[in-house]
This record gives sequence, structure tokens and C-alpha cells, in this order.
Amino acid sequence: MRKSKQAATILVALAMGILGCGKAPTMDERGNGAERRDWAIALHGGAGTIGRGGSEQIAAEYRVALAVALEVGVRILNDGGTSLDAVEAVVRHLEDSPLFNAGKGAAITRDGEHQMDAAIMDGATLDNGAVAAVRFVRNPVSLARHVMTSTPHALISGPGAEQLAEQAGMPTEPAEYFHTPMRYERWLRMKQREAVSSEAGEIEKGTVGAVALDRHGNLAAATSTGGLTNKLSGRIGDSPLIGIGTYANNATLAISCTGHGEEFIRRTAAFRVSALMEYGGLGVGDALAEVVHKQLAPDSGGAVAVDSHGTIAMDYSTRGMYRGAADSTGRFEVAIWEE
Ligand code: ASP
Repeated sequence: MRKSKQAATILVALAMGILGCGKAPTMDERGNGAERRDWAIALHGGAGTIGRGGSEQIAAEYRVALAVALEVGVRILNDGGTSLDAVEAVVRHLEDSPLFNAGKGAAITRDGEHQMDAAIMDGATLDNGAVAAVRFVRNPVSLARHVMTSTPHALISGPGAEQLAEQAGMPTEPAEYFHTPMRYERWLRMKQREAVSSEAGEIEKGTVGAVALDRHGNLAAATSTGGLTNKLSGRIGDSPLIGIGTYANNATLAISCTGHGEEFIRRTAAFRVSALMEYGGLGVGDALAEVVHKQLAPDSGGAVAVDSHGTIAMDYSTRGMYRGAADSTGRFEVAIWEE
């Protein structure tokens, strides 16, 4: 009942053209000096070579999936829930969708496995948790939160992390659950070229992430990914690395990145955006634009971010980035390209 009502809301919104189908002057706003919002949330579903030439129907499916996930976060924040709960719930939702390269639909390694990375961070306390190269765990972001709240550690990888999930009674799935024809075809293509997706000039599409400010004034960020197609077994990208692919600090911003992980690692990307705000006095939009367009190599990817005033910035150097934004003023938009 609740699901069908939500679907109806999204369909009406699509019909009205408010989900990024029409004018969207605010989607990629620099956002400096904007008025304060009670709560705000932004999400991404990955960047990369998202051509406009594809089917309209597939683009519409992505828009609906992004809008439904955004709505999950909006409800939590509007009801006074925490930013941590909101980003975890949004990322779980995207992990469960086969459209995105996270959870179900994760990319495939050179050895034919799904190895997933995820992280979550609390901007109020700077507490964080992450997992890397986990197989079988249905929702890596929730395992990352478990690492944060229930272990003395920040990042746990491989079989140790999988064991932790089992001990905590978290849902696990057989390898087939994560398999999708779309990722399999992509893997076969990369395998034939003996490349990983970033070498082939194709940044992986579909890593997911969310950032939020709640009514209590707290920021949080979460990111989850299957990583690069045909990556070496055990390769860990930027997503689970705090200050690289994921970061939250009430003093500055919450940010979740997507793109060529090795390049984000080289530039300490997420913390760099935060440092430009804290030490350089830049607003969230200018700080993000500086890193995405001037400091990272061209075509590296993008990020979504929100500052402590609820100002959202979303920016990318690739052809597109699946993304969405909503806040307490009634803003609710999703987009894929410059629209
Ligand atoms: N950043 C991810 C990685 O390198 C991939 C992506 O965001 O698309 O693992």
C-alpha cells in the first residue's frame, strides 16, 4: 500500500516534469551563501560515460529509481530522523536496485566475483566505519555502520568483514544474487580488452552515495560500490576510504564521491573539498568545483555534498552523473545530465 502510494507520487512528479525533465537551474548550483535549510539531502548513482544516445526508457527508469530513493531519505529527515539513518536508508535502497553498481548489480572482478566497498561517517562525532572487498553481504553500507557502532575499528576487509556480518545476523546472499546481465556484458567486454573500466576510458557508472543534513544540525555521508569492472581481486577503491571517497564533518560538509578511485585517492579528494572550506574560506559549491574541475584529472568523476546550512552542491567532470537533491523548502529534483 505504502509502496504503491510512493510510486504514484513519483509518477505524478514525473508527469509534472519536476524530476529533472524540465528546467533545473538549481541542480548544479554553486550554492554559496544560500539561505539556511532545516534539512537537506543529495544522492548520486555514479558518474561516467553516460551518453545521451541511449534509450529514453532506460533514462526514465534511472530517474524513477533515484526519485524513489530520494523520497526514502526525505521522509526520514522530514519526520525529524537523523542524517545517519537517512543516508544509510537511501544507500541501502540503491544497493537493492539492480540498476546501480552497488549491492545487487555490483561490478565483477577479474576473477569473476563481486567484491564490494562501503563507508559511512557521522559529521557530529567524526565516527566512521567502512568495509572493503566484501562478497555475499546484501547491504555493505549497513555492515559499515556496524563497524562504526559495534567495533573499535574503522575499516574491515574481506573474510573478516563477512564473518562480522554473519555474527551480526545481517542478510547475506549467494553470488548469483549480485549478478546482472548488464554488468556481466560489461565485464566480458573489459576482459576481452584485458582492461579495467578506468583504463578503457570508461569510469564505472552506478556507485551510489548520499549526504544529508538533519533537523538537529548534523551531517552524515555514505557511499557504496562494486568498484571498477575487471579490477584485480582485493583492489580497494576510494569509496570506503574516509577523506577520499566519503567524508562528513559538521564544521564543513558531508560529501560522497564517484569516479576513478585511484585518482580520487591520489588527490585526497573528499577531505580536500572540506579543507578548502575550513582553511580556504570557500563555500561548498566553489570548493567542490575547484577539486572536481581543477585538481582531479579531467573526466575523473564527481560528487554530491551538503554543508551545515543545508546548501547542496553536485558537480562532475564526466558526461553525466545520476543524482538527486531535496530539502525542507520543497525542492525535489533528479537529473542525469546538464538539464
Ligand atoms: N569510485 C569507485 C571506485 O573506484 C567507482 C565509481 O565511483 O564508479 O571503486
